[in-house]
Amino acid sequence: MQADLICVGNELLTGLVENSNAGFLARRLCSVGIPVSEISVVADDEKVIRAALGKALKACDLVILTGGLGPTDDDITREAVAAILGLPLVLNRKWLEKMEQFFCKRGLKMPKNNRKQALVIEGSTILENKRGTAPGSMIEHEGSLIVLLPGPPHELQMMFDEQVLPYLVGHNRGNLTTVKTLKCIGLGESMLEEKIKSAGEWDLPQISYVARGFEVDLQIKGCGDPASASAALADAEKRLRSALGTYIFGSDDQTLAGTVAEILIAGKLTLGLAESCSGGLLSDIITDIPGSSKFYRGGVVVYNPDAKVEVLGLSRSLLNHEGEVSDAVARAMAEGARSLFRADLGVGITGIAGPDSDLSGSPVGLVYVAVSSPDLCDSMELNFGGGRRAVKERSAQIALDMIRKIVLTGN
Ligand code: ATP
Ligand code: MG
Repeated sequence: MQADLICVGNELLTGLVENSNAGFLARRLCSVGIPVSEISVVADDEKVIRAALGKALKACDLVILTGGLGPTDDDITREAVAAILGLPLVLNRKWLEKMEQFFCKRGLKMPKNNRKQALVIEGSTILENKRGTAPGSMIEHEGSLIVLLPGPPHELQMMFDEQVLPYLVGHNRGNLTTVKTLKCIGLGESMLEEKIKSAGEWDLPQISYVARGFEVDLQIKGCGDPASASAALADAEKRLRSALGTYIFGSDDQTLAGTVAEILIAGKLTLGLAESCSGGLLSDIITDIPGSSKFYRGGVVVYNPDAKVEVLGLSRSLLNHEGEVSDAVARAMAEGARSLFRADLGVGITGIAGPDSDLSGSPVGLVYVAVSSPDLCDSMELNFGGGRRAVKERSAQIALDMIRKIVLTGN
């Protein structure tokens, strides 16, 4: 099966709304081995939608359209699809009743134009919308499957995961493309490739490298019938894991913070943070993880020297002699956080996020990250490019990786 996505909406073409539906659908399809060959964004214009659908049907056997299923006059996706298939729109009484109840429960009378949303393409299967009034639909046409989904992401996502994905997995035709993502940190993409190549003469499946800050995703693809595709992937994964060792921190949907959380919880270890230039971002990332209270004792943002002295107990002479952005201060912050929060591990992050340098003349992007444990205190000096946000994000990423390495290897 090969998919084509058509995202309908003028707001996507003006940049007013980011096309997050395409990313979501492509990731989901890819995860079940259905490659996406084209993603197009088109205007709320019947002629344009018809042209895009006509082209897609020639190339692919799965076409997913998003948006334009609402009640207003500018929502015309349903009409355009019906026209190109030469099928009428028919009233679905069951859905009409559901919509009336939807409004009634909210103490409202259904506006007349909502009636349009109960019109479905003859012969199509309705996809229920638990979060809104626009139903989706699926229709088979000359060997291709056409799926219509509403534009609002929270409606589309639930509908796709609960109703479309299980159908596609059950009806996937032809060869399967299985994708596995191995997530790496600590080496850039070119060095990763070098390490993989120097580990031996392998017959590896196709690998793509996707860099995100300090992380690199290694995407490996296995093609063919399901059994040989997954066997090829399992073999490739084994070889890559032995070549890259702890540079691989997880796979597929795992995140660096999620992996760190798992190993801290497994080791019954607790964590305390002292952040300066990262402004609490590391605490934010960690508290996004469900169950983080099992290991996260707390964090402080100690942004100016007085706060570092008064909250963390750093000595003024250390700050004066070494400078606020220094290895010694990062280490003292990590120790301070560990003792303030009575945690097993403490993290200190201090740096210059820019755009101006500090009084000492240290360069913008200079960051020190330290992690302290009862046995040791490790630190790193880093020089980041990019704006303030990039400096914060990369500092947090490095800190997470340092925690991971300290727990896994003890150094
Ligand atoms: P509604 O009943 O809400 O009108 P609809 O199916 O007609 O649903 P649209 O009118 O096209 O959908 O879009 C509704 C909202 O969904 C838009 O305001 C936009 O915020 C969001 N949206 C639409 N398409 C996308 C997309 N591709 N990616 C992200 N958001 C989108
Ligand atoms: Mg709409």
